[in-house]
Amino acid sequence: MPVETLQIDTLVIGAGQAGVAMSEHLSRQGVPHLVVERNRIAEAWRTARWDSLVANGPAWHDRFPGLQFQGLDPDAFATKDQVADYFQTYANTINAPIRTGVEVREVQRNVGRPGFSIETSEGPIEAIHVVVATGPFQRPVIPPIAADMAQVTQMHSAQYRNPRQLAEGAVLVVGAGSSGVQIADELQRAGKQVYLSVGAHDRPPRAYRNRDFCWWLGVLGEWDAEAVQPGREHVTIAVSGARGGYTVDFRRLAHEGITLVGLTKSFNGSVVTFEPNLAENIARGDENYLALLDAADAYIARNGLDLPPEPEARRLLPDPHCLTHPILELDLVNAGVTTVIWATGYSVDYSWLKVDALDANGKPRHQRGVSSEPGVYFVGLPWLSRRGSAFIWGVWHDARHIADHIVKQHTYLNYRDASQRQNDDVQAPALDSDSNSSKTSLMGVR
Ligand SMILES: Cc1cc2nc3c(=O)[nH]c(=O)nc-3n(C[C@H](O)[C@H](O)[C@H](O)COP(=O)(O)OP(=O)(O)OC[C@H]3O[C@@H](n4cnc5c(N)ncnc54)[C@H](O)[C@@H]3O)c2cc1C
Repeated sequence: MPVETLQIDTLVIGAGQAGVAMSEHLSRQGVPHLVVERNRIAEAWRTARWDSLVANGPAWHDRFPGLQFQGLDPDAFATKDQVADYFQTYANTINAPIRTGVEVREVQRNVGRPGFSIETSEGPIEAIHVVVATGPFQRPVIPPIAADMAQVTQMHSAQYRNPRQLAEGAVLVVGAGSSGVQIADELQRAGKQVYLSVGAHDRPPRAYRNRDFCWWLGVLGEWDAEAVQPGREHVTIAVSGARGGYTVDFRRLAHEGITLVGLTKSFNGSVVTFEPNLAENIARGDENYLALLDAADAYIARNGLDLPPEPEARRLLPDPHCLTHPILELDLVNAGVTTVIWATGYSVDYSWLKVDALDANGKPRHQRGVSSEPGVYFVGLPWLSRRGSAFIWGVWHDARHIADHIVKQHTYLNYRDASQRQNDDVQAPALDSDSNSSKTSLMGVR
C-alpha cells in the first residue's frame, strides 16, 4: 500500500499558545497551513503544571488581543485550566486547522526540490515551511550538582502537583523564580517546614499606585525590550498571581516561616552547601523592585497621571534571622528534609529537527524566529524578539512577524518570468512529480 502523504504549504508543530497564534496570523494572511499537536491544545497549561497554578498576569493582560477571558474579572488571575480552556476556545473561534494526537518525529529538508519531509505518528507530511512551536519549556533541567540520596525524594517543579503528594517532612526548594517561590509558599502554608534556595532574581511589585506590574512593564517599554540592559544579565523573575496576587517579598516569606538560603552549590552525601550570597541576591532583588517604583513615579510625574501615591511600598521589612545569619551547610537527613524540589527551569529538545537551524549546543539559530535554515521558523522562545516573546501577550506579536516573512517568501516564489507566464496560459503548473506515493493535497486547508 502506498503511504499517503499530506501536502501543505506551512506546517506548524505544536498547539500551545504559540501554535494557536501562528495559525491565526497564517489564516489572516491566507497561508494554507496545518497545526499538528501530539497531545491536546494547550496541554502544558492543562496537565504539565501544579494544581493550584494561576496565570502570573491578570486576565486583562495575559491573553491575545482578539478575545477576553469570559466570565472572569479582568483583574483576576486565570487558573491554569481557564488558560487552557481559553486557548481551546480561541482555536475554535478562529477555526484553526489543528490536528491533535499527531507527533512529529522527524523533519528533513528535501534534496533537489523545495520544502521539507516530515515524519509523524500519523504518516508523512510534505511542507514548504515549518514553524516550530513546540514550547520553550520542554525538558526539565536539574543541574549536575544534584546527587542521589536514598532517604530524600527529588523531583523537578514540572512533577510537583500539590503538598499532599509529598512525604512527611521538610522540603528544600531549589530556585526562587516564580515557580520555586509559589511552590515554597504553598508548601509552607500547608504546614511544611521549607528551605528556599534563592539565586539572582528580579522581583517587581505585584502592583504599585493602582497599576499591576504588567501594566508598568508595558508602559515603560520593558516587555518590548529587545535585549537585556547592558551590564545586567537576564535573571529569573519572581512574581505570583496566587491568592489574588501578591508581591514576592522574600523577607515576608521568611517572617512567615520559610528559611531562606543562598544559591545551592554542591552536595556531599546528604550534606548540601549553599553559596554565601543570600544577602547579595536579596539586595539585588530589592534594587530591581525599587528601580521599578522609581521608574513608575517618574512616568506618573512626566505624564501628570492621577494615580494615588503609595509611600508604604518603599518600606522594607526588617531582615529575618536567616538573612543575617545565613545557613551555609545543611545535612538534609538531620534537618528532616525528605523532599528536594528542583525549580531550576527547562531546556529545549530538537533532536527530531534534522535541519541546519541549530547551533553546536542544539539551540535554535535564528533572527526574530527566522532560522538559518530557509523555510524553518521558531516561535514562542524566550527573547525570540523581545522580553515578552515566551509569554502569552508577546508570542502573538512574534507570530505575526513570522507569518509576514512566510508571505514575503511566497511573493518571491510566485514570481514567474515572461516565458513562464506565457506557458501558464497553455498549461497549469504541476504541484509535484514524485510518483512513489499517493498524495493528498492540503494546500487549501485553512
Ligand atoms: C509554571 C509556568 C507558569 C507560566 N505562567 C505564565 C503566565 O502566567 N503568563 C504567561 O504569559 N506565560 C506563562 N508561562 C510561560 C508560557 O506562557 C508557557 O510556558 C506556555 O505554555 C508556552 O506556550 P508555547 O505554545 O510556546 O509552548 P507549550 O505550551 O509548551 O506548547 C507546545 C506544544 O507543542 C507540543 N509538541 C511538542 N513537541 C511536539 C512534537 N514533536 N510534535 C507535535 N507536538 C509537539 C506540546 O505537546 C505542546 O502542547 C509559564 C510557564 C511555566 C512553566
